[in-house]
Amino acid sequence: MKYIFVTGGVVSSLGKGLTAASLGALLELRGLRVRIQKFDPYLNVDPGTMSPFQHGEVYVLEDGAETDLDLGHYERFTSGKLSRLNSLTSGQVYESVIQKERRGDYLGKTVQVIPHVTNEIKERIAAGGKDVDILITEIGGTTGDIEGLPFLEAMRQFAHEAGRGDVIFIHVTLVPYVAAAGELKTKPTQQSVAKLREIGIQPDVVVCRCDHPLNPDLRDKLSLFCNIPVKAVIEARDVEHSIYELPLALQRERMDDLVLELLGLKLPRPRKNIWEEIVGRILNPKHEVTIGVVGKYIELQDAYKSVYESVTHAGIANNCKVNVRRIDAEDLQAKGAVAAKLRGLDGILVPGGFGDRGTEGKIAAARWAREHRIPYYGLCLGLQIAVIEFARNVLKLKGANSTEFDPRSPHPVINMMEEQKKVIDKGATMRLGSYECALTPGTIAARAYGVPSIRERHRHRFEVNNDYVARLERAGLVVSGLNPRRNLVEIVELKNHPWFVAVQFHPEFQSKPNKAHPLFAAFVAAAIKHRGRT
Ligand code: GLN
Repeated sequence: MKYIFVTGGVVSSLGKGLTAASLGALLELRGLRVRIQKFDPYLNVDPGTMSPFQHGEVYVLEDGAETDLDLGHYERFTSGKLSRLNSLTSGQVYESVIQKERRGDYLGKTVQVIPHVTNEIKERIAAGGKDVDILITEIGGTTGDIEGLPFLEAMRQFAHEAGRGDVIFIHVTLVPYVAAAGELKTKPTQQSVAKLREIGIQPDVVVCRCDHPLNPDLRDKLSLFCNIPVKAVIEARDVEHSIYELPLALQRERMDDLVLELLGLKLPRPRKNIWEEIVGRILNPKHEVTIGVVGKYIELQDAYKSVYESVTHAGIANNCKVNVRRIDAEDLQAKGAVAAKLRGLDGILVPGGFGDRGTEGKIAAARWAREHRIPYYGLCLGLQIAVIEFARNVLKLKGANSTEFDPRSPHPVINMMEEQKKVIDKGATMRLGSYECALTPGTIAARAYGVPSIRERHRHRFEVNNDYVARLERAGLVVSGLNPRRNLVEIVELKNHPWFVAVQFHPEFQSKPNKAHPLFAAFVAAAIKHRGRT
């Protein structure tokens, strides 16, 4: 088994996760079984308790682990399903070390960062992928961060103990363009690599993020100062249209050949490359639609990452360019704002969320979609919003709401799940992970999925109140998906509407560029149809 460690230098947000994911994709094309995992140096046990402003989206795995959004990239670019073993934080490491100390497992020793913390990290490296050929481990943060040191030290030890040629280090760094000088600058990269060497790690490959091409002189300079061959200086220029161009860009730099060579693996070049087809479809759409995403973190790149990616995948599946108009839900709460902001949209999507800020705007958006027969797609909170809207405006239940937003609502059509009522801790206590959902034959959902039963990932505390289901159904709301064990409403749709579907789960965690999620694909197909009609 071979190991690849990916570190980052100079600044954060360089796309280390995408680089790791793209490399994984290229290695899978060579027929290797690949798994990618992320180690994050922060002290939170998981990102589940962090605000989207701090962290971006929380990506939920099949087993219910709440993880970094990079795991979303890993699952979208490679075929393997990840588990909670593929996501490690300093919080988890210290939690485990302290538990062992309290149990007396360390037999009277002084418990220290080296060896106890580093051993814990080393154990978790291999645990992440016993059944694969290549395990890629990305370390969050930037070289030089104090909190990242135990992780880098553990990697160094791991490489020292492993067989020669079994471990390589890839460093992703920034080569900035300084406009005043009119050139790219290598100094930050030199310094970041020097920092790595100081802790005993010599990178084998340096991936240079830049917005101008690296000329041969620069490549020579980087090779000399980073102490690597010229071919190990990889240019990763900003991709033009889509992140799915990155595997192709890295392949043009022969990064996959180089990595295989460094790991002592001889494998033929692939004859077919799915990424060419994916990018080809993105670049040559036949249709174009505009959908509105009504949320409260619309100014953040990362808060709805998987939702935006899934919309792109649905576009690929439909040969359609999907423009996303990001709409701040709070802006819809002013008089006259709904028509002004939502007119002209071919579809409206309300993603997940917590807390009552912006909910009235989302309810107004759902009403607009229902009344104007515009395709509506609600995800998690987006289902709860749709049900509240229907209860208020069709069933005329005044004050209908979720108890999350109005604990004293006279009509709590959405309320807290029974088992949640006794939960005190906030971390990892929601209804999390994959659950079965039985589809109602003949519904939009059943037609889209094409199978009688599905599994989808969840992350919520509230649910549709079953006391209201019969009344909602009589008025035209269709329950098209149910959790068979507990009778929980998982999907609703509208009878007299071209495409109005809302789900209690998060389908965006199971969509891939070459295999769009069926509901996302059906939503974009409905948007194309809607556009043709008006
Ligand atoms: N806040 C809602 C709940 O906890 C919805 C959660 C979500 O959208 N992920 O049920």
